[in-house]
Amino acid sequence: MAVARSLGMFAFVARLPRVPRRDLAARGADEPLPVVRIPRALQRRQEQRQSERRGPLRSALVRPGRLLISARRRELNQPARLTLGIWESAPLASRGWKNRRSVQDHFSIERAQQEAPALRNLSSVGYFADLGLEPRLLQVLKEAAPEVVHPTAVQSSVIPPLLCGSHVICAAETGSGKTLSYLLPLLQRLLGRPIPDSRRIPAPRGLVLVPSRELAEQVRAVAQTLGSSLGLQVRELGGGHGMRRIRLQLSKQPPADVLVATPGALWKALKSHLISLEQLSFLVLDEADTLLDESFLELVDYILEKSHIAEGPDDLKDPFNPKAQLVLVGATFPEGVGQLLSKVASPDSLTTITSSKLHCIMPHVRQTFMRLKGAEKVTELVQILKQHHRARRTGASGTVLVFCNSSSTVNWLGYILDDHKIQHLRLQGQMPASMRAGIFQCFQKGSQDILLCTDIASRGLDSTHVELIINYDFPLTLQDYIHRAGRVGRVGSKVPGTIISFVTHPWDVSLVQKIELAARRRRSLPGLGSSVREPLSHQP
Ligand code: ADP
Ligand code: MG
Repeated sequence: MAVARSLGMFAFVARLPRVPRRDLAARGADEPLPVVRIPRALQRRQEQRQSERRGPLRSALVRPGRLLISARRRELNQPARLTLGIWESAPLASRGWKNRRSVQDHFSIERAQQEAPALRNLSSVGYFADLGLEPRLLQVLKEAAPEVVHPTAVQSSVIPPLLCGSHVICAAETGSGKTLSYLLPLLQRLLGRPIPDSRRIPAPRGLVLVPSRELAEQVRAVAQTLGSSLGLQVRELGGGHGMRRIRLQLSKQPPADVLVATPGALWKALKSHLISLEQLSFLVLDEADTLLDESFLELVDYILEKSHIAEGPDDLKDPFNPKAQLVLVGATFPEGVGQLLSKVASPDSLTTITSSKLHCIMPHVRQTFMRLKGAEKVTELVQILKQHHRARRTGASGTVLVFCNSSSTVNWLGYILDDHKIQHLRLQGQMPASMRAGIFQCFQKGSQDILLCTDIASRGLDSTHVELIINYDFPLTLQDYIHRAGRVGRVGSKVPGTIISFVTHPWDVSLVQKIELAARRRRSLPGLGSSVREPLSHQP
């Protein structure tokens, strides 16, 4: 017994040989009793763990082929051809990510197709001529953008109702060609209208409202290319430079037929009676979700109040008493958009168009999520950017957008990249307007291949050379994720897109889990769709 005590655990085990009674009965009398060296419970647990480790590996091996989700822990891979049943549970790679021990874990939503959904079956969609556009406009489009031959799905469904005079709300995925879908009908409407004789103050006939100066510049450039050949003046009104600049912009001769403006600058111009919206016959809110968000809502409300919105298509017919046709486009829509519109237009006159891929995970863009400690993010970023730089030297052509959640992070990270001699541009909302001007164009033209920015660069900007988006800070909402992601994989993109997101906080993990679940179940992202899909006639 003393020996047993000194042997500790093994002796304890020897005293309690838990051999099932059945075994004893079945054993012959001369057979020796089995020697139990490891406690049975422990042995069973070990065997169970081993089989758990081996089992799913085997299932990964018996299911070769393309993957929808590839995870660091291979047992969580999901093959592309597997469709989860409604009641089948979806094992999430990001499941334990709120726990600190999960750092260094990662998974990717793989690319399922090469081209953007908006481009699929493009040739079967038809030609711009079939949509009711005038030959003069078609000719101008052909000369200005020879690569634009077939309309995208969004253009095919938005242009005809706009030409018929309906107010339109269009919600379609980023990069699907929404700009042309409203600009072409806008220009056609202005072509058929007499120019009012005396204009005491500038009174544009077409107005495109956008949330940022960079987007205003971009839309103005597209509109001007088309408009100048048609004899229409296209001007831009952006804020950030004070009243003197606004006055200067509006005093240019000849006055604008089409104005592309940001809400702040236009609001100031209206308040100072420098512009009138009485002649307006076409009003567009591009990136309407952002324009109707709290930061702009008051300004936009005021602008809508000053515009005479038509009751319906019949109201648009009198050329001497112009009324405005209203178009809202966006990739996501906030709650209550219908309510807001019902204040300015009758619900029956609104046509809602949503694309089938709205709020879906982009199937043609690889999206990687990396669970990191906050302190690891800089090292990881520098490593990725250096790798990108080496690839550029060997001929790769794409550029990189790095998103941060605040202007101060952009500045701070900029200094760190400077230390590492990584050349880049910075764009954030707190920069003086003079510094901010032209930065995005520089990036678009390729004079620098890395842009550090906040969400001001996530809305609407066309970036066909971007191949990599890094969410250095994970976006705070799913809307922001969609908009940031939309800077790659656009119609006309020259390079396939990839997104890498750093995930650090528990609230980041909650969003990542929603994205992963939507990808695994091949569903749209939750909580974004309801407001647009509600039939507007149900609004009070
Ligand atoms: P969205 O506003 O939906 O995000 P854009 O209007 O900015 O998208 O268009 C994205 C890109 O697609 C632009 O570079 C544009 O020139 C290109 N594009 C638009 N329509 C077509 C088309 N019908 N065929 C080919 N490229 C197109
Ligand atoms: Mg756009």
